[in-house]
Amino acid sequence: MKLLKIKLHWQILIALILAVLFGYFIPNGVKYVAWMGDIFLRALKMVIIPLILSSIISGITSMGEGSNLGRLGFKTLLYYLSTSTLAILTGLAVVNIVKPGVGVELGFTESVEGLSEKAGSIKDILYRLVPDNIVDAMAQGSILSVIFFAIIFGYFITKVDSKYKESLKTFFDAIFEVMMKVTLFIIKFTPLGIFGIVANEVARNASQLTNIAGSLAIYSLCVVAGLLIHAFVFLPLIVRFIGKAQPFTHFRNMATPLLTAFSTSSSSATLPLTMEALEHKSGVSNKITSFTLPLGATINMDGTALYECVAAMFIAQAYGVDLSIAQQGLVVVTALLASIGAAGIPMAGLVMITVVLTAIGLPLEGIGLILAVDRILDMLRTSVNVWSDSCGAVTVARTEGEKTNVSLIS
Ligand code: ASP
Repeated sequence: MKLLKIKLHWQILIALILAVLFGYFIPNGVKYVAWMGDIFLRALKMVIIPLILSSIISGITSMGEGSNLGRLGFKTLLYYLSTSTLAILTGLAVVNIVKPGVGVELGFTESVEGLSEKAGSIKDILYRLVPDNIVDAMAQGSILSVIFFAIIFGYFITKVDSKYKESLKTFFDAIFEVMMKVTLFIIKFTPLGIFGIVANEVARNASQLTNIAGSLAIYSLCVVAGLLIHAFVFLPLIVRFIGKAQPFTHFRNMATPLLTAFSTSSSSATLPLTMEALEHKSGVSNKITSFTLPLGATINMDGTALYECVAAMFIAQAYGVDLSIAQQGLVVVTALLASIGAAGIPMAGLVMITVVLTAIGLPLEGIGLILAVDRILDMLRTSVNVWSDSCGAVTVARTEGEKTNVSLIS
């Protein structure tokens, strides 16, 4: 078929445009195509747990000594915390310069009941890390718990008798290889899946989007401007100067996962595609991707962090509250924690704003102000979340001395 000769990311882009047109002009026809999106998402979710489990275990067992794991962990967390903080500060600067919330009418139309219960506390995040039942954690798709278990399990494989070690290592390497093949197979259907998802979303949200005017539009532009600066200035600089790699070649390699992140609004669902692109296109070893990417998909969310900050500041401005420097510092810290705690699923970031608002004593109803534009901003921030994870993997790999396919030619 001729269509298959077109590069996958072009196919996805075409599907995206067609889906927008379809959803907008033929909303009644969407029920006939929405199933394609559902099946695609189900297939991605199907591979996530076995992929994470086998990839982390096989990555850790190939890492060798324990100190490697510690060093890698330290570098990865350092990258995650510093880029998320940088993103928040970028957002804070933009929102302080533009002040999109000043003078906004507080007429709430949307109800936000039950949001704060869903957010959970910092203690809950810690509890989520250590599962009381690993089978249940897998069944619930609780990624943090599965990562924790896989790291412990992988680590102790390296501590057992070599005959057990070898067979377990081969076993998990083999599962990982198979899961990658399954992922590659699912990826072929991305254009169809994305068509179904996006057509459905456009049909559902079209009326809301046309209502957006005035301050909400300016607020959205602030988020978008912050995201663009972070994604196209700061992250490339880190890849270029710390990772000594080519950020824009890497960006091109990431086209498929980034478009998928945009369409699905879920870093977790995109994870299999992110792993595939990094390993097979940008040439980062499984040792690095297996550790950094699953962790990144759940805790490293630069786009979400920036969004939390801009949204909370916008709400504060709309309520006429002038936040002091210390209070803005609190926004920075809580936005960081909220982004770490947010799950890699659609609208998780919106729920987590309650954490920031509560910390600075603003009413949760303020969230009603920004609900209308959350979906579209979710798409953008999720792409930035995934982009940052991928830049982190390249940067860490390069500082570990890996050649990769995106190294600078010196
Ligand atoms: N949807 C985002 C993600 O999966 C999380 C968020 O809502 O900000 O990365």
